Amino acid sequence: MRLLDSHCHPASVIRSGKWNAWSQEAKNVGVEGIVAIGTDLDDWALYRQCAEENPGFVKHTIGLHPCHVTEGWEDTVAAMSPFFADHPAPAALGEIGLDYYRLPSDEEEAEQVKQWQQAAFRRQLSLAYQLGCPVVIHSRHAFGDCVQYIDESGVDWRKVVFHCFVEGPDAVREINQRSGRASFTGIITYQKSADICAALKAQGLARLMLETDAPYLAPNTKRGQENTPAYLPEIAQKAAEILGLPTDEIAEVATRNARHFFGF
Ligand SMILES: [Zn+2]
Ligand SMILES: [Zn+2]
Repeated sequence: MRLLDSHCHPASVIRSGKWNAWSQEAKNVGVEGIVAIGTDLDDWALYRQCAEENPGFVKHTIGLHPCHVTEGWEDTVAAMSPFFADHPAPAALGEIGLDYYRLPSDEEEAEQVKQWQQAAFRRQLSLAYQLGCPVVIHSRHAFGDCVQYIDESGVDWRKVVFHCFVEGPDAVREINQRSGRASFTGIITYQKSADICAALKAQGLARLMLETDAPYLAPNTKRGQENTPAYLPEIAQKAAEILGLPTDEIAEVATRNARHFFGF
């Protein structure tokens, strides 16, 4: 089976010296590449170095995750451009977006954080527009605003992926109509994910992309454990079940799509 983990966060694995065992474990089950997704200034250089040391196996991205946005977001975003001039250059800008789920409980504080998130998201979208690079979107309880800001940014929707998709079929159609796509995590293997599975089905094969979002969101049989790209086969199996196709074919197509999207 050929697999590509289009979204994971190996920072803690690298920092704790477990990279070799971790990546070998993934390779052993057929994972032929991973995209290491940046979230804040402190993992960008780490992932760039990882990509440099693992050519052909690792691509990396840089982005300021909405849950990492603070008052000083402008300085962080200003530090991005040099990374795109460097080698290896990031394969995409992300993950960026809006997360209205994890906000401070104090209403005034929550409103302030929301405003910072929106400003940081817009600034990063405008950078992505200038660079013409792919964009990885994180959206939680903020789907409508995310779509609106992307529309306003002029970013080419063919280069937009809503990662860890947790909306239903109507929302995925809204993205697909604009030529964007959704990618799916182990959440599709959980009970009570019927709506998300229906979204995967509605999107279909042509834009299918799979990811673990490791170390978060381990698939059903591994729940409670730290997630790893080595658990990607279980997600591919579930996607195959939903689409009524052989797992090998699903893995093949999802891998080809992810390679195309990230220029792997
Ligand atoms: Zn995310
Ligand atoms: Zn993520």
